[in-house]
Amino acid sequence: MLGAVELLPGLVRAAAVDDDGQLRQLVERSFAAGAGRADVEAVIADVAAQCFTFQRVRGIGIACPGLVDVHTGAIVELLDLPQLKGFPLSDVVAKHGRAPAVAEHRARLQAMGDRWFGQGRGRRSFASVTTGETLGVGILYDGQVIAPPGGRSGAHMIVAAEGEMCTCGSLGCWKTVATTAWLRRAAAAAGLDGVTGLPDLVRRTEPAAEAVLDRYADHLALGLINIQHLFAPGRFIVHGEARAAGQAFRDRIEDRLLAVTSWSAEAERPHLVVADVDEDVSALLGGAGLVLTRLG
Ligand SMILES: [Zn+2]
Repeated sequence: MLGAVELLPGLVRAAAVDDDGQLRQLVERSFAAGAGRADVEAVIADVAAQCFTFQRVRGIGIACPGLVDVHTGAIVELLDLPQLKGFPLSDVVAKHGRAPAVAEHRARLQAMGDRWFGQGRGRRSFASVTTGETLGVGILYDGQVIAPPGGRSGAHMIVAAEGEMCTCGSLGCWKTVATTAWLRRAAAAAGLDGVTGLPDLVRRTEPAAEAVLDRYADHLALGLINIQHLFAPGRFIVHGEARAAGQAFRDRIEDRLLAVTSWSAEAERPHLVVADVDEDVSALLGGAGLVLTRLG
């Protein structure tokens, strides 16, 4: 049995997962986002102890929503929970879950879930793409998940020389133009009222909706084109909002990818597929996959 823990702003979840990717046990508990460090630690400890005391696991993979030191398992930077900077996440989970624990950035973990339990099974290369309120990419290249210490998940790759200011302080990061926050702003600027997100926008019949959708697809494609140029993963496994946005929207992105990679006869033709793992538990499956990858 494999263990997984997911830390989110305001929520901790733990699951026991079998080797086929089925959840056998799930424990979760919420906490106030502004809670003190000791209080958050108590919640993490309690959830790990509850989940793994009777359902013993051979290792626990932890999905962290921010930067984590993959060697020590300590949180390096967590913008949504700044009180946890330096927090020894893996050590706390290992102690209370009574199993070795390893931590990884959430977006990069998703690739591990796809690799072992999803659309990446049996493949040597693919990219796993998170879309929606958050943006990120995990890459499997020639059988290895590319997750170097200090690497990030792609959201802050710069796609415009003179773009918008990002939360990280740089100009023109991919996330400034390819997340739901941009989509809502662009829809409002185009006169479309109350657009909540991509699945909402694809249902709108106003002509302005088409134009915003086109631009959004172009923006998402920008990051994927860079990844195709560098790693030629061929398969892009789509999670999040773009998964629920319908085939027509994904075709727009695929067309953009094909248009700028047609020079390559050797690389696999780039294509998008919809993730087949349950979105709600994909980070937990990634944690279980991390155990298989890092702890064997
Ligand atoms: Zn940025």
